[in-house]
Amino acid sequence: MAACDRCGGKAVTLVRYSGAHLCGRHFCEFVEKRVRHELRRQLDLRGGERMAMAVSGGKDSIVALHLVADILGRRKDFEMCAVTVDEGIGRYRPPAIPLVSGLCGELGIEHIVVSFETLYGITMDQVAEARRDLSTCSYCGVLRRAAMNKAAREWGADFIATGLNLDDTAQSILMNLCRGDVERLARLGPHTSAQPGLVRRVQPLRTIPEGETTLYAIVRGLRYHDLECPYAPEAVRNSYRDVLSQLEDKFPGTRHSILKSYDELLQGLSSAYQPARLVECECGEPTTRDLCKACELLRSLDGIRR
Ligand code: SF4
Repeated sequence: MAACDRCGGKAVTLVRYSGAHLCGRHFCEFVEKRVRHELRRQLDLRGGERMAMAVSGGKDSIVALHLVADILGRRKDFEMCAVTVDEGIGRYRPPAIPLVSGLCGELGIEHIVVSFETLYGITMDQVAEARRDLSTCSYCGVLRRAAMNKAAREWGADFIATGLNLDDTAQSILMNLCRGDVERLARLGPHTSAQPGLVRRVQPLRTIPEGETTLYAIVRGLRYHDLECPYAPEAVRNSYRDVLSQLEDKFPGTRHSILKSYDELLQGLSSAYQPARLVECECGEPTTRDLCKACELLRSLDGIRR
């Protein structure tokens, strides 16, 4: 490996989209600088805010938790907690929970665990066995978002921070474009304002490629849960991941360009699609219709729920 462009030390990576060779220290600084910038850009902290971190235990959420704790955690006028959603996936989720609890103990922050079984009377393993027309991930994504929002709101959070990285974000943009779902595209987040019942989402890692979150975790020696969910191969987003990684391979910087184009388009999109008026679903969660999407999916599973 070549020498670090900044200090001449041994480089641990070549950042292909910028052409820079970086050693461990300068690579970490390169990541931290962009996350600090994103947090400043997305948050308008005035003092007294509370942030719930969505922490599954995977590398992205663990890196996000460490970075937010490093950057904001020492402020006296800021409070954070971690929320882990236990979807009820037998061979996958159980080992992540004690790992996150241990880390929260070290960082001195509260760890909240909410489970589908307690909230909805069903596990994802049961959904996977019985599911009807949609992929397992389609149920899981909707139920997890609702569970996360409820837990964060009940804790009194002003923000939910997720570990979504640049790859996830570029995939979501491309997916909604390909589906022609412009309204959803306009609402991808990060959210710039709060709506009743809906905790504002922020995305500290949205400019950091997935490979860089992995390398950051390795260089800093962070422990994370690296098992793959058994249902992951079914996810629709895999096709978009493949297309984007081929494009990135041929044309380094493609993911950044997609995000930059999206951010430029967002102003126009946001004025064309004003935030929808939200009402309270019978479950207490915000919805644009009588019944929220989570309740709609749960009703389709009525025969097998506790
Ligand atoms: Fe849920 Fe799909 Fe993610 Fe597994 S891969 S945790 S089923 S969204």
